[in-house]
Amino acid sequence: MDMDYRGGSSWKQILSQSITTPDALPTSIEIDRAPLQKVVARYSMRLNPYYLSLIKEKDDPIYKQCVPDLREILNDAGFDDPLNEEGCSPVPGLTHRYPDRVLFLISSCCAMYCRFCNRKRKVGRSSMVTRSSIREGLAYIRGHREIRDVLLSGGDPLLLEIRELFHILRDLRSMTHVEIIRIGTRVPCTLPQRITPQLARMLGSFQPLYINTHFNHPDEITPESSLACNRLADAGIPLGCQTVLLKGVNDDSEIIRTLMQKLLTIRVRPYYLFQADPARGTAHFWTPLNRGLEIMASLQGHTSGLCVPHFAVDLLGGGGKIPLLPEYVVERDGDVLVLRNYLGKEYRHPVLD
Ligand SMILES: *Cc1c(COP(=O)(O)O)cnc(C)c1O
Ligand code: SF4
Repeated sequence: MDMDYRGGSSWKQILSQSITTPDALPTSIEIDRAPLQKVVARYSMRLNPYYLSLIKEKDDPIYKQCVPDLREILNDAGFDDPLNEEGCSPVPGLTHRYPDRVLFLISSCCAMYCRFCNRKRKVGRSSMVTRSSIREGLAYIRGHREIRDVLLSGGDPLLLEIRELFHILRDLRSMTHVEIIRIGTRVPCTLPQRITPQLARMLGSFQPLYINTHFNHPDEITPESSLACNRLADAGIPLGCQTVLLKGVNDDSEIIRTLMQKLLTIRVRPYYLFQADPARGTAHFWTPLNRGLEIMASLQGHTSGLCVPHFAVDLLGGGGKIPLLPEYVVERDGDVLVLRNYLGKEYRHPVLD
């Protein structure tokens, strides 16, 4: 779409020009806007001019991620809190599911509201994260010395003011048991202008700090997003990517391979490829589990191991993430395992047990 967001615009200016109602979609998109009003009454809409500019045509992989769709309210399949994040929350906005790490939500807003978001019932609502939920979360982490890894998420943590983020990071760093800090953010992809030299410098002063960003399609890798990722990497921050497998967007071996290869060129190491969570309002994005396994089989061995993420399913009901692998073991035959290589050829390998 032809949108003029450039001309030295700051990220705040770009964000302030976001479309938040279907009526405001560009006239070049032919779509019945009135019924979509009901969709955004339930699930927030925000489409900033940068991300909008990546749409080439209606229904393309960028469009599907950001433009509201009637199926969000017509198809009722799924769950409001599929991962039972609230059931594992000792304080609001903090999920302590695993022994040594917590998920800590510190922002309610995102630079763009992804239509497939598994927290879509909450993002964009000011009640999601409050000053007091942040205070309580920090107090919980301070009181639990088994927590050595804090994963900041939201919403998008990088939409906070630098000063607010600095205070949270400084507080976490003052806790000697917190060894590493992680930030989950889609900003390098959806609003790369947010990654200013000042922000990168501030984040870089809290090492060891890891950032996991979130790209879903090769068309999201642009000169702008490349600059943002390089800036973070230059500040010494290791970058990972958490991609979600989405029907009609990237459920295709070639698209995923290209995406993973391109991510490495902007210094982002693929971390997870997620099966989409069964969150209500997202059923039109779900793919069969087998699709993910086929895609993994098409990566492993066919391209560098660095391009191969873990294919993970976050178990319904809050069991946590588990990796799934294509089957490489054919059978055991006495002292040997019969194994299949990436080309499907069988090899006999000693078990040695
Ligand atoms: C995903 C997640 C984490 C982090 O998991 P890793 O596998 O260590 O990346 C931590 N806590 C919760 C609740 C999560 O959902
Ligand atoms: S950026 Fe992340 S939290 Fe925000 S809407 Fe997209 S998927 Fe959800």
